[in-house]
Amino acid sequence: METLTNTKSNEKATMAQPEKFVYFFAAGEAEGNASMKNTLGGKGANLAEMTAIGLPVPPGFTISTDICTHFYKEGGRLPEWVRPKVIEALQKVENKIGKKFGDIKNPLLVSVRSGARASMPGMMDTILNLGLNDQTVEGLAQSSNNPRFAWDSYRRFIQMYSDVVMGMNSSLLEVTLEDMKADKGIHNDTDLTTDDLKKLVKKFKDMVQQMTGQSFPNDPFEQLWGSISAVFRSWNTPRAITYRDLHGIPAEWGTAVNVQSMVFGNLGDDSATGVAFTRNPSTGERKFYGEYLINAQGEDVVAGIRTPQPISTLQEVMPAPYKDLETIYQKLESYFKDMQDIEFTIEKNKLWMLQTRNGKRTAKAALQIACDMIDEKMITEEEAILRIDPASLDQLLHPTLDPKAQKVELAKGLPASPGGVCGQIVFTPEDAVEMKEKGHKVILVRVETSPEDIAGMVAAQGILTSRGGMTSHAAVVARGMGKCCVAGCADIEVNYNTETFKAKGYILKKGDVITLDGSTGEVFLGEVKTIEPKLDGTFNRLMTMADKVRRMNVRANADTPKDAQTARDFGAQGIGLCRTEHMFFGADRIDAVREMIIAETRPEREKALTKLLPMQREDFYQLFKIMDGYPVTIRLLDPPLHEFVPHTDAEINELAKRINYDAARLKNKIQSLHEFNPMLGHRGCRLAVTFPEIYQMQSRAIAEAAAQMVKEGKKLVPEIMIPLIATAKELEMLRAQTIEAVEKVQKEKGVKFDYLVGTMIELPRAAVTAHEIAKQADFFSFGTNDLTQTTLGLSRDDSSRFLGSYVSQGIFAKDPFVSIDQVGVGTLVKTGVDLGRQTKGNLKVGVCGEHGGDPDSIEFFENVNLDYVSCSPFRVPIARLAAARATLLRKKKK
Ligand code: ADP
Ligand code: MG
Ligand code: MG
Repeated sequence: METLTNTKSNEKATMAQPEKFVYFFAAGEAEGNASMKNTLGGKGANLAEMTAIGLPVPPGFTISTDICTHFYKEGGRLPEWVRPKVIEALQKVENKIGKKFGDIKNPLLVSVRSGARASMPGMMDTILNLGLNDQTVEGLAQSSNNPRFAWDSYRRFIQMYSDVVMGMNSSLLEVTLEDMKADKGIHNDTDLTTDDLKKLVKKFKDMVQQMTGQSFPNDPFEQLWGSISAVFRSWNTPRAITYRDLHGIPAEWGTAVNVQSMVFGNLGDDSATGVAFTRNPSTGERKFYGEYLINAQGEDVVAGIRTPQPISTLQEVMPAPYKDLETIYQKLESYFKDMQDIEFTIEKNKLWMLQTRNGKRTAKAALQIACDMIDEKMITEEEAILRIDPASLDQLLHPTLDPKAQKVELAKGLPASPGGVCGQIVFTPEDAVEMKEKGHKVILVRVETSPEDIAGMVAAQGILTSRGGMTSHAAVVARGMGKCCVAGCADIEVNYNTETFKAKGYILKKGDVITLDGSTGEVFLGEVKTIEPKLDGTFNRLMTMADKVRRMNVRANADTPKDAQTARDFGAQGIGLCRTEHMFFGADRIDAVREMIIAETRPEREKALTKLLPMQREDFYQLFKIMDGYPVTIRLLDPPLHEFVPHTDAEINELAKRINYDAARLKNKIQSLHEFNPMLGHRGCRLAVTFPEIYQMQSRAIAEAAAQMVKEGKKLVPEIMIPLIATAKELEMLRAQTIEAVEKVQKEKGVKFDYLVGTMIELPRAAVTAHEIAKQADFFSFGTNDLTQTTLGLSRDDSSRFLGSYVSQGIFAKDPFVSIDQVGVGTLVKTGVDLGRQTKGNLKVGVCGEHGGDPDSIEFFENVNLDYVSCSPFRVPIARLAAARATLLRKKKK
């Protein structure tokens, strides 16, 4: 439980010189292995492991991640004591290969490669061919009997070193090379002659001198120390820091450095370099997948210098190394028991392995691969469950933009809620509703959204806001609805007056079409084709496996029949939270709700409530029917009443006319509802303490719907939930009234049914007095949204402005509204569960806040013994998988 603390790994607390920090690897003597990723980085650990299992890996050594820490401690310098050990290891490499570093006859060349614990692709460019200078290049030309190759390697080395180590803009040299090609009328680097390359080298060195004021180092050792230092420096470059922040990689991990003897793919047409995946990383298909380039080196394949060839053709071109590659990739896969991403080089028809790691893949591929590997008896079902990131399933549950479609990007904001949608833009919720009713697809564009915009958000395909973060109202509500949302899109300038927004020189007006990609935060001009999600066999198979394993139930938060049906389709085992206030907003009833609110006498209020009763009854009946015997938790009215009334003069006047009420009086009435801090004001059960008729009407509606179900011979289990309880006394009173209302209906209708009356635990006082509250409750449901707000004293809607800084400065490891603050709020949850069950051993306990759909929070809820989690319908599959993982991880710990 250290999510919110800023604990540093104690691994490096002692800054003494480590005993061992250089790890050699060569056939028959690997000092490291795959389990040493913390020390050797992922690349180094796997190079050692590949060597150990007998694969052809060029010899080399790894300088451990500890040295990265020392490097920074010494103010960004390589400590002197590191050098002798490096030189010693280098001599071992020389002995293995029979070449000497810096030798003018037969020089050893090396690559210098970064390698952190977690792969950080593209963090630092690798330096190849290190050890070349004006003398050794001649030696290499002679010893290889291939001067063109030697000079090609040299010009590559100058390009890489001047960029990575000397900080020169690499495009300058690239342009010079392109110019030479253009002058000569050739297309490919491979068409440059030895003389061309010699000229280039001379030019390059002059340019380096000019641009950096330093001459290009001729001393191979100076080159080596320079490169090693550059790798350590690359750990703290802005792009590395951004990447680390994005992926939660702590700064103190550091990177390792790999120094490895070179093998050459640029020796001619019997040489090549390539990258491959042991299975297709985007579909998961069990087919070797990759690309290679003949007569090329390292980065050429990815850099797009020439079009690479598909790996399938390598079989014909170089049958012998291909055969080896085939054997090796299969061996690697069954050894690591996972799809591998590999890098290789062929030097004069001999295959060399340069890297292997577990390959990144799409969610679709992850499922396919996991299922196939179970069938191949490579992994167990439990291993498969643990391997798939639950959050990644989100990719599969929403329509996405067709990756093949052409697009014009307008702007980029935060990927707040996934999915790909297009529609006509509107700037007000009213327009959204109106256009929707006319059959148009719309995208609601707002600076920010507020609860008054809900109807518009419901009507819209997607939501675009120019302000607000990942936990802004728009983002949270959209995710809850499973609706695509791009939030905080500062690239657009919204003007409500003219109903336009500006972006990238375009001015878009109401009715213009745009497309949102909620998975990337991109906004596109016009309509971009989308593809529907297909939940195929592998998805269902994984879900079935997860359901077999998990202990907790998974329910959904659903207020409408549509949401309830989605929830069922995704496998929800009931409704964990039905927010009844959402039922009050319908066009057919909002005025009745308002009459109830402004009523001054009990009879007036009851009259309005009588209008609402049949509508509420029908709402509940529909939900019961869809849930078909699964429990349905209905929360009685929660929000402050002013949320339901209009606020502008024009709207108030219109309402007054409609309900035949004096406009001035209505305005007064509405003003009197104003609260300074509505979140902590007259809401939740406090409404029922002053106006008991509201909850009584709702209880009656629930009971009447239940009675109808019973009469039709259908199953149901209503759970009536009272919100915002702080004291046992409140609950005792309201519970009695609820039971009275339900029993009255049972008597009237002459039917009996089981039902529960419970409460939300969303105030700290309720959590710490849960033993008292449990006496009055049949169940608890932790409302962790409000519990987070009230425990941290932090308003969700106002905190987005500064929460980002809290996370980036490490005060919070994660946004506490997304992933539960385990130490603080989590302790209250645990306390509440334990105290509640002290009173009632079998008290049913669940959670219905946003956290119910967050995998890390779900793991926490498993460990504090909740009975179920409830989340938005679209997150149900994620929660099912996360709950299964949590069960397995807990078992493993025991
Ligand atoms: P990254 O971490 O970006 O993948 P690498 O350290 O794997 O960078 O290096 C990129 C490429 O450089 C490798 O895929 C390989 O083609 C080439 N390379 C690295 N070391 C050597 C070497 N010793 N011999 C030949 N090529 C190498
Ligand atoms: Mg690599
Ligand atoms: Mg609440």
